[in-house]
Amino acid sequence: MHTIMTTSLHHSPIYGPVHSRRLGLSLGINLMPGDGKICNFDCVYCECGTNGQRHTVLPRPTRQDVSAALEQALNIMLSEGKVPDVLTFAGNGEPTAHPDFAAIVDDTISMRNRYCPNARISVLSNATLIGRPDVFSALMKVDDNILKLDTVDTYYIYKVNRPQQHGFDIGNTIELMRKFNGHVIIQTIFMKGDVEGDDVDNTSEQFVAPWLDAIRSIAPSKVMIYTIDRDTPVKTLRKADKATLDGISARVVAAGFECSVAY
Ligand code: SF4
Repeated sequence: MHTIMTTSLHHSPIYGPVHSRRLGLSLGINLMPGDGKICNFDCVYCECGTNGQRHTVLPRPTRQDVSAALEQALNIMLSEGKVPDVLTFAGNGEPTAHPDFAAIVDDTISMRNRYCPNARISVLSNATLIGRPDVFSALMKVDDNILKLDTVDTYYIYKVNRPQQHGFDIGNTIELMRKFNGHVIIQTIFMKGDVEGDDVDNTSEQFVAPWLDAIRSIAPSKVMIYTIDRDTPVKTLRKADKATLDGISARVVAAGFECSVAY
């Protein structure tokens, strides 16, 4: 296990801006408490640490907190001559789990239109709540609806993503992803290594072939694949190598989808 000291939390509700080679200048929106992590997954690779390591005391920021902090951050950036390329909902947990997520998306769209009309709005989500009509329609409104799909293997999901609720059904999740009619980007981490002695390599044919079938069925606008980068709570995970990632990317492209790779 990586120690609690080596994984990082995001400030709440606004953090950054941070430069990203892929996204440009990104202002982060974290709808979780700033003092810990709350997620309905507990991924072994989560850069925020495990839920157990990161108990929270503070409440989530309110819709008003987020709106005020975003406006203040945008005012400061613009006064410094900086314009964000993207406003990114991510942070210490699952953004769509905030009870006011849909209204916060509406506020963010208004503010984007007023302050930085060329900026994109991106949401990084684990897709567990896309069956909720308010979450679904909010995700239809954002520019980049980026949903996690690490595998279609239920055993692997319970070993690696570790859903915190009973009855998480990946088949149902894929059906819901299809309903976005292409207004969805699929994000997948590929890795090697083990968790408590169980192999969690999802780069073999046994994992990639059914995952590709799911991609074909969802028909996303894009696929983003990546591997472990910074600290992870479980130390026995290993990066997938470049050749493996390139090989998977080539298959996605051959299936007719755009694919980006982050090594
Ligand atoms: S879904 Fe994201 S925030 Fe939640 S545990 Fe997994 S990596 Fe961390």
